[in-house]
Amino acid sequence: MIAVLSGGVGGSRFLQGLVRVVPPEEVVAIVNTGDDEEFFGLYVSPDPDIVTYALGGIVDEERGWGVRGDTFRWLEAMRRFGHETWFQIGDRDLATHLYRTRRLREGATPSQVAGELAERLGVRARVLPMSDGRVRTVVETEAPRLPTGRGALPFQRYLVQRGARDRVLGLRFEGAGGARPAPGVLEALREAEFILIAPSDPLASIGPILALPGVREALASRRDRVAGVSPIVAGRSLRPPAAELLAGLGHEVSALGVARLYRDLARVFVLDREDAGLTPAVRELGLEPVMADTIMRDAAAKEALARATLEALG
Ligand code: GDP
Ligand code: CA
Repeated sequence: MIAVLSGGVGGSRFLQGLVRVVPPEEVVAIVNTGDDEEFFGLYVSPDPDIVTYALGGIVDEERGWGVRGDTFRWLEAMRRFGHETWFQIGDRDLATHLYRTRRLREGATPSQVAGELAERLGVRARVLPMSDGRVRTVVETEAPRLPTGRGALPFQRYLVQRGARDRVLGLRFEGAGGARPAPGVLEALREAEFILIAPSDPLASIGPILALPGVREALASRRDRVAGVSPIVAGRSLRPPAAELLAGLGHEVSALGVARLYRDLARVFVLDREDAGLTPAVRELGLEPVMADTIMRDAAAKEALARATLEALG
C-alpha cells in the first residue's frame, strides 16, 4: 500500500498518475481538510472533492477543480437573491455538497461520507479526509480589520474571495492540535510500503495534515520510505497561493525552500530538471535529490512523475 499526503489540484494530478502505476486499491490518499468551509449552509470539502473527481475521471482537467462540463445555473439564481457567490459551485458539484451535508446531519463522519462519495463515483483508491474533526486554516494578513480578528482570513476568503492579494503575516491551523487523524490515517502511515508527499502546497495543504497529532512523528519515524515532490518549479508556484505563503512566512520560494520543510520527514526529494542547480543544496540538507519532469501536463507526464518518485524510493 502507498500512502499519499495530498491537497487539491496538484495532489490530485499526482494521484491520477500514481493509480496508473500501481493498482488503485493499493493507494490511500490522505487529504487536507483545512480548506473546508460552509456556504449556503452546505458543508464543502474542496480538496477531498477534487481528489475524488480526479480519480473518478470527472474533474474539469483545465481548471483542476469542479466537474467537467458543469453549469452554474443555481449559483446565478442565488446571485439574484443577493447572496455572496464568490465561491464557485457548479450544479453537479452542488449535489456532492447536498449529499455530504445530509449525511453529516444524519450522524455520518466526514471520512465515512468521503468513502461513500468515492464509491459512488467509481474511485477504487481510498480517499481519506485527514481528520473527522474540524480544522480551519486561517491566513493572517494585512487585510482591513475583519470580524475574525486583525486581517485573519479563513483560507477560502483569502484565496478565492480576495485572490491571495493580501500580504501574509501568519498561518494557523485552528483545531489541528486537538483533532485526531481520521480512522485509518495513522494505520496507513504505519503500514505503507512508501509514503509520498504530493506536489501540493507545502504550507496550506500539507501543513494542516502534518499539524495533526502523530502525523509528523509517523513520517519522521519512517523517513527512509518517504519521498516529497516539489510543487515549486523554477522559483514559481503553478498556482496561488503557495508562493505567496512561502514568501510571507520567510521561506525561500524555490524547490530548496520546500526541501527544507521536508528534510526531517523524507529521504527522497523530487525536483524539476529545471532546478538541477539546486541539487547540491538539497543533498546538503540530508535529502536525496531526484530530478524529473514534474510538470503534469497530460496523463503520460503524471504517470512518469509517479513512476520516477516510486523508483527513487527503490
Ligand atoms: P490546492 O489544494 O488545489 O491548492 O492544490 P495542492 O495544494 O494539491 O497543489 C497546489 C500546488 O500544486 C501549487 O503549488 C502548484 O505549483 C502545484 N502544482 C500544480 N500542478 C503541478 C504540476 O504539474 N507539477 C508540479 N510540480 N506542481 C504542480
Ligand atoms: Ca486546497
